[in-house]
Amino acid sequence: EALDKGLEKTKEGLFSKITKAVVGKATVDDDVLDELEEILVTSDVGVNTTLKIIQRIEERVARDKYINTTELNGILRQEIQNLLAENNSSDFENFEYGSHKPYVIMVVGVNGVGKTTTIGKLASKLKAAGNKVVLGAADTFRAAAVDQLKLWGERVDVRVVAQAMGSDPASVAFDTLQSAVANGDDVAVIDTAGRLHNKVALMNELSKIKNVMQKVVPGAPHEILLVLDASTGQNAIEQCRQFTQATDVNALALTKLDGTAKGGVVIGISDQFKIPVKYIGVGESVNDLQLFDRKAFVDSLFK
Ligand code: GDP
Repeated sequence: EALDKGLEKTKEGLFSKITKAVVGKATVDDDVLDELEEILVTSDVGVNTTLKIIQRIEERVARDKYINTTELNGILRQEIQNLLAENNSSDFENFEYGSHKPYVIMVVGVNGVGKTTTIGKLASKLKAAGNKVVLGAADTFRAAAVDQLKLWGERVDVRVVAQAMGSDPASVAFDTLQSAVANGDDVAVIDTAGRLHNKVALMNELSKIKNVMQKVVPGAPHEILLVLDASTGQNAIEQCRQFTQATDVNALALTKLDGTAKGGVVIGISDQFKIPVKYIGVGESVNDLQLFDRKAFVDSLFK
């Protein structure tokens, strides 16, 4: 399965270490917990999230007195799932968006994280699920971004609304939503430029785009999706901090999980920012973008 394959490196890096740490030990003692703590921290789960997990295991150890290392795996698995559940990760089971029509997704994130690819793959999945989809090329700062989005549009046979490079992103967003309404589209996905070097400018630009969208579709954007490259570990966390300060991010896409042993970041980031992980990218092909499923994710890590 694509997920198992995509998580192979994380599994090797993170979970084989856990297995090694407990090999030959009969019970979960302080040494085991110390080692587990170190493994989780170095796997980009994050210090606070790790401490939370360790504390929950300690509580179980205190309560049940005797826990063997096989049981530890089960408990760890359960606690990770619980953490993800607390942040509503994988509460999205399909690509149906209920009463919102068009359902508007504003996509944010810095260049290179896989934003365009994620939009392209998402468009393909949305379409396969029976939605009429339109893409808006509001990253007008880079000519390549507009061209790349158009290319994806051709590839997956989805309309792309674009203007000349350098034009006003809010104007592209406006056009896209007007076109979506006129065309009876189910979902509109708007790409935006993610220049982080000037936080105030980013904030202003995103809020201008949002305001303009609401003139066409009240309540839009329904989803503000932040795309992060999971292989960058702490950088992804820093980007998450900055974007959540700039706008109301309410969903995360974590890409390039296939290329990294740092998949633990999925667990930490959702816990730290209380934002659900909605999509994960586990490869370059269209089918490698998946709706995040916390149970499948954890099962795959512990397989
Ligand atoms: P953008 O600048 O954020 O729009 O980034 P792109 O969408 O152009 O992606 C940058 C590179 O990352 C491309 O070569 C993509 O094929 C690659 N990429 C995106 N998502 C994934 C993923 O989930 N796995 C892998 N292995 N590569 C990915």
